[in-house]
Amino acid sequence: MENKRIHDLEEIKGFVFDIQHYAIHDGPGIRTTVFLSGCPLKCLWCQNPESQELYPQLFFSYDKCTGCGKCISVCTQNAISQNGSVVQTDRNLCKICGKCVTICPNEARTIIGKEITAGEVLNEVSSDKMFYQESNGGVTLSGGEVLVQHEFSCAILELCKNENIHTAIETSGYGSWETLKNVLTFTDLVLFDFKHFDDSEHIKFTGVSNETILENAKKIYHELKIPIVARLPIIPDCNDSIMNIKQTANFISTMLDKLIKVHLLPYNNLGEQKHKNLEQSWNGFSGTIPSDKKMNEITKILESYGLSVKIGG
Ligand code: SF4
Ligand code: SF4
Repeated sequence: MENKRIHDLEEIKGFVFDIQHYAIHDGPGIRTTVFLSGCPLKCLWCQNPESQELYPQLFFSYDKCTGCGKCISVCTQNAISQNGSVVQTDRNLCKICGKCVTICPNEARTIIGKEITAGEVLNEVSSDKMFYQESNGGVTLSGGEVLVQHEFSCAILELCKNENIHTAIETSGYGSWETLKNVLTFTDLVLFDFKHFDDSEHIKFTGVSNETILENAKKIYHELKIPIVARLPIIPDCNDSIMNIKQTANFISTMLDKLIKVHLLPYNNLGEQKHKNLEQSWNGFSGTIPSDKKMNEITKILESYGLSVKIGG
């Protein structure tokens, strides 16, 4: 790639809320997973609510707060108030200036997400190149939804490919085909989330239709011929019915391929706590962690369609 193009790609900016090294559940081998901010879906069970907004957010670990009031004294927006021992932030007033983060003696306040260039992301992921080579690993872009910041995603992926780093994206598949196709130009593997087969249930649980999503899955596999791993979050009383598992298995095995590997991702309730830390009102969703018996039952159904299944990523 010519130097000017590399330079231009390196300068493209985007928002990232986490970069995890030595990940072993986000594609083959040892990987670095880059979590991009912004998501058009609002899954009731979302385990990363901090990923939904594009811009940085204040994260308040209220269990560490002693009520000393120092944050209140530095906030020029008057966004923080105290009622007894309870400290609260008015998110509409907060400008994410970070003054309260710096002054808090108990590290109760942090800012999640930051603006970063694609070149800076490349520098960070390149430090693990030795591990990728030894384990056939690479870089995975996750989110949020990587299609929201598609120009940024494309830049990171192209820069990685230029360094011979294996690339994967995790996606809900919700986006225009043109956008998806651009991002996939530099993608070796797609970890594709299937949240619910029935469209009206999909809308109920995620806020969006799955029509485009299912069409995109078919096009990725058949037109672009990019390998897919199907990822099924298993959320009790939402998408774990025998009918939904059978319909999903039928779609994957007949409309995609029996060779597609399926990863089952059992629900965990981390999201509930994170909503509190973001001082958001909770949507009332109360999930339970699926039992081993249930996970085995779902595995057997999928296997009866000729699919190979793994519990976990
Ligand atoms: S980040 Fe800044 S504006 Fe927001 S609550 Fe803290 S001090 Fe106030
Ligand atoms: S500075 Fe930290 S410990 Fe003190 S009231 Fe604010 S959040 Fe709580």
